[in-house]
Amino acid sequence: MASVGQLGYIGVGVSDLDGWKKYATDILGMQVYGAESDGTTFLRMDEYHHRIVLHPNGNDDVAYLGWGVPTLEGLEQMAAQLKAHGVSITGGTREEARARHVIELIKFEDPSGVPSEIYYGQEVCYPDPFNSPKGIHGFVTGDQGLGHVLLNVDDVDTNLRFYREALGMRISDFVVRQVPGGGEAMLAFLHCNPRHHSMALGKLPMPKRLSHIMVQLNNFDDVGIAYDKCKNQGLPIIMSLGRHMNDHMVSFYVANPSGWLFEYGWGARSVDDDTWQVQLHTGGDIWGHRMSGPGHFSEEPVASN
Ligand code: FE
Repeated sequence: MASVGQLGYIGVGVSDLDGWKKYATDILGMQVYGAESDGTTFLRMDEYHHRIVLHPNGNDDVAYLGWGVPTLEGLEQMAAQLKAHGVSITGGTREEARARHVIELIKFEDPSGVPSEIYYGQEVCYPDPFNSPKGIHGFVTGDQGLGHVLLNVDDVDTNLRFYREALGMRISDFVVRQVPGGGEAMLAFLHCNPRHHSMALGKLPMPKRLSHIMVQLNNFDDVGIAYDKCKNQGLPIIMSLGRHMNDHMVSFYVANPSGWLFEYGWGARSVDDDTWQVQLHTGGDIWGHRMSGPGHFSEEPVASN
């Protein structure tokens, strides 16, 4: 089965572009790397032209997910596999590829209607090295892509089947956790490279599709320094520093100007498909990750614990 290789870029709609630029640079340590005449703004995390794109369209949610494959042959295989699953493919013009700074791409929708793209040939900017305005020691990206995303979906099973069978992703594990309001959610975690998960899926009590994006730091102190900075500035830390039970990431969660969250982490374990065994987690995290303020999955307040 053909598989996507990485979550290479994400586009998000924003209403507060200036707030986002400040947050992305001062808090996350990303680099603002140019903008289009309509305000579309690129955020850089590594040697590639961008990993996150801000579209000032007032829609504070995911605009599209970009999945990378290494070669043209890989792209052709993915297109054939999508078609075999009855997925209609649109777009892919030269102008659309140029707008994403890739050689070629195809466009489709996932079962929740999230605009999705598969590309090959992302523009790389070696002569102009990544330069974090905050002086962080860089992000874990490369073949692992930009990080991971947790999507709120209408039906986990349908999406799980789609991401496994049409995009070729593999199950990492499942987590059952409490959600605000007293219910439970079963979250499915999927990988397409050694990163423990590039995507997580859950039916969550929240209006947006996008729950959070995780970015992983090379240096643990960069996480701690950002944690202090968020506290000093009074930013809404929705989950305190802690270590996840499944990917073993040490991280915290902070809201961004669109209201969804960034997970800022370090130290995750990775997946080797030859030896990985899927696990079920029901007992919460290893330590920390205490919720406060508005809930992780909801815009309703949740009591501190
Ligand atoms: Fe996460």
